[in-house]
Amino acid sequence: MLVNLLINFSLLTTFIFFGDMILALLKGKRAFSKLQLHALYGIGFGLFGIVQLYFAFPLGDGTIIDFRQVSILAATYLGGPVTGMITTSLIALFRLFFLGEINEATLLGVVNIVITFLVGVFAFSLKIPAFYRWLVAACGMVILSTCILLPLVGWTNIGTILLFDMICFMACLFNYLLINHLEKSHDALEMFKEAAERDFLTGLHNPRSFNLIFKKTAEISALQNEPFSLLLIDIDHFKVVNDTYGHAAGDVVLSKLADILQSGIRIRDYCARKGGEEFAVLLLRCTADKGMTVAEKLRSSVQDSIFVLPDQSQLRITISVGVSSFPESAPAEMLEKADEALYEAKGKGRNQVCYAEARLT
Ligand code: GH3
Ligand code: MG
Ligand code: MG
Repeated sequence: MLVNLLINFSLLTTFIFFGDMILALLKGKRAFSKLQLHALYGIGFGLFGIVQLYFAFPLGDGTIIDFRQVSILAATYLGGPVTGMITTSLIALFRLFFLGEINEATLLGVVNIVITFLVGVFAFSLKIPAFYRWLVAACGMVILSTCILLPLVGWTNIGTILLFDMICFMACLFNYLLINHLEKSHDALEMFKEAAERDFLTGLHNPRSFNLIFKKTAEISALQNEPFSLLLIDIDHFKVVNDTYGHAAGDVVLSKLADILQSGIRIRDYCARKGGEEFAVLLLRCTADKGMTVAEKLRSSVQDSIFVLPDQSQLRITISVGVSSFPESAPAEMLEKADEALYEAKGKGRNQVCYAEARLT
């Protein structure tokens, strides 16, 4: 029995580990809605529970024991009742119709599966820490399945049943530790990614992330011969804002400006804080003309916006924008060109958009 259960447990942990990896990939691609992902979880655990049935330990009279119940609990914990129900239904249907004839043992096996699911739904809905929820689920499952198994296999097998209960209980707790570890690793990875790619104050891309995106866009656009535009944006006389209202108020202005810029571009475009009060916008599949139009739209919406400071005083600011575009400029020159155009906009009196003239070679 120990060998079969060990195989069963190893399969379960391997499945959870790789399943989690695949799910993280799918989530990253955003190809599925939350409900679809939960359904996938349910089907995955269900099919896996069926595999587990083939590595079960026979107790006689058609009764088999394995860790399928741990899979049902894991599915219910990770995806909620709908996921758990899909897993339970798949395992139960397979147990009933594809694993020998229907008899008392099969029926009680199915009752056991359904009860495990209900125990899971109850335990995981409790408002207590996750470890205790797993403890309630494991205890409930072990006690109830013992009550179901004992009359079937008889008291002579009590030793085996108790040993199985103990191993099943441990498997539940190990499962919790594994899932908890994976969840914490995901959170930490998200946090590191956020810290590595985003500007802390505004939530926009930071310069490192922006440079990578720019490089990638330049490569793809050159290959596909598609235009793209770059806007460099600088707040006019921002030092005065800081000197008059304080640095904290300046930060609020930077944050609000980031929101205005972000909401003024399409989802597929990128906005970054290049440092200080300077921002950059990358407009994909966007010609020079369209780039100038977007720049002008952003400039005027900043001019029309009222910035409310922490002391409730109101402030208006303006921005100057330098625009460059591909194919008019080579990607390697675009930053420099947009910077020159921005300098020109400042020189011409600020609060305006200037376009980088292509250098004729
Ligand atoms: P110009 O119109 O020529 O751009 O004038 P400016 O005052 O905006 O430019 P300048 O380069 O003289 O000043 C930029 C100011 O931006 C100075 C600095 O205190 C402020 N600044 C840079 N980073 C931050 C920040 O993270 N928070 C705040 N509050 N201010 C910042
Ligand atoms: Mg400035
Ligand atoms: Mg500046």
